[in-house]
Amino acid sequence: MPENSQYGLSTRGVHAGEQRDPQGAIHTPLYNHSTFAFGTTAELLDVVEGRTPGNLYTRYGLNPTIRSVEAKLADLEGGEQALAFSSGMAAEAATFLAHTRTGEHIVCIGDVYGGTFELLGDNLPQVGITTTFLRGDQVDRLPEALSDRTRIVFFETPANPTLQVFDIAAIAEHARAAGALTVVDNTFATPVNQNPLRHGADLVIHSATKYLGGHSDLTAGALIGPAELLTPVGMWRKNLGQVVAPEIAFALARSLRSLTVRVAAQNATAAAVAAFLDQHPRVERVNYPGLATGEAKRLVDAQMRGGGGMLSAVLDATAEDTARVVDRLRLFAIAPSLGGVESLVTQPITTTHHGLDPAERAARGIADGMIRLSVGLEDLDDLVADLAQALDAT
Ligand SMILES: *Cc1c(COP(=O)(O)O)cnc(C)c1O
Repeated sequence: MPENSQYGLSTRGVHAGEQRDPQGAIHTPLYNHSTFAFGTTAELLDVVEGRTPGNLYTRYGLNPTIRSVEAKLADLEGGEQALAFSSGMAAEAATFLAHTRTGEHIVCIGDVYGGTFELLGDNLPQVGITTTFLRGDQVDRLPEALSDRTRIVFFETPANPTLQVFDIAAIAEHARAAGALTVVDNTFATPVNQNPLRHGADLVIHSATKYLGGHSDLTAGALIGPAELLTPVGMWRKNLGQVVAPEIAFALARSLRSLTVRVAAQNATAAAVAAFLDQHPRVERVNYPGLATGEAKRLVDAQMRGGGGMLSAVLDATAEDTARVVDRLRLFAIAPSLGGVESLVTQPITTTHHGLDPAERAARGIADGMIRLSVGLEDLDDLVADLAQALDAT
């Protein structure tokens, strides 16, 4: 099937990147092998010297199972190429290292994954790469934060756990004018709900551990964008040994074939859960892109095709009472991940934002009474009944 074709996203999720082997296996088989053999020295040199694409050594990513899932990932995001990694953090680390040098600078906007915050704030400064962090409500200060040493502007949209949506096109325009790349973490939205490359982002990152894997049973990452920007990242991936394992690539490809169906169901259920919580007397505020109004709604409509499966709600409750509500939930498991078939709940002050001091948390809109939900594939009525019994008990 031609890549980036005229087919719809579901068709591409099933067919893109698939390569039948001589046995006729219906999907690309699992090639668990570390190395590949050549008929002649000349054939080996053609691959080593890049004249013909081919399989060579799995750590290089030159493995048919890995290349197949990468072709599918690139197609789903509408990018030229993809690199698959052992984790989302591996994708981020290789991207930052490949596109910045000692003495250069990154701008990070809004709330980001805890590991990202540590990588940018603690690890990269050790090699002389510094980051300016702008809170979500400070995005208008981006032009002042950019300097001639800024190489990357990085953000998540929607961001965790406030579900704040950032204007990809507007940010990318500022970044481009300053000579910096715009790198968007699209983990929460998934390619079903949003394609950042279409709105001016240069690179898209995924923690494939979340929706792309979708069953809480694999850890992987992905980077998608033009070949020219991926080539230097691929070299870091190769020499840091960060490639995805073939069996994980195989499991990820299986998950991607049902991505659109899963995310469509999660969009619909999360929207209904958000509406239920929004009218509940014990809930002060619900953060969900599908509930946005005014200017925020215009942005959501311009940039997103669905609200996603993630939402957060601020309860009219203390931290302790909020923990009691969380503990009473039966179907929502208490766990710090997202994007799986099972619904999960966290209290951000006890997990993702545990380390932040209370004043900083308040400035970021992360209240003691906030819960974050990852809505799974259970029946809506069961999830609503579970939330109702947990909220209504005194
Ligand atoms: C989980 C997550 C990551 C890190 O991904 P891993 O696969 O755990 O390394 C990065 N960004 C976001 C938004 C995440 O949720």
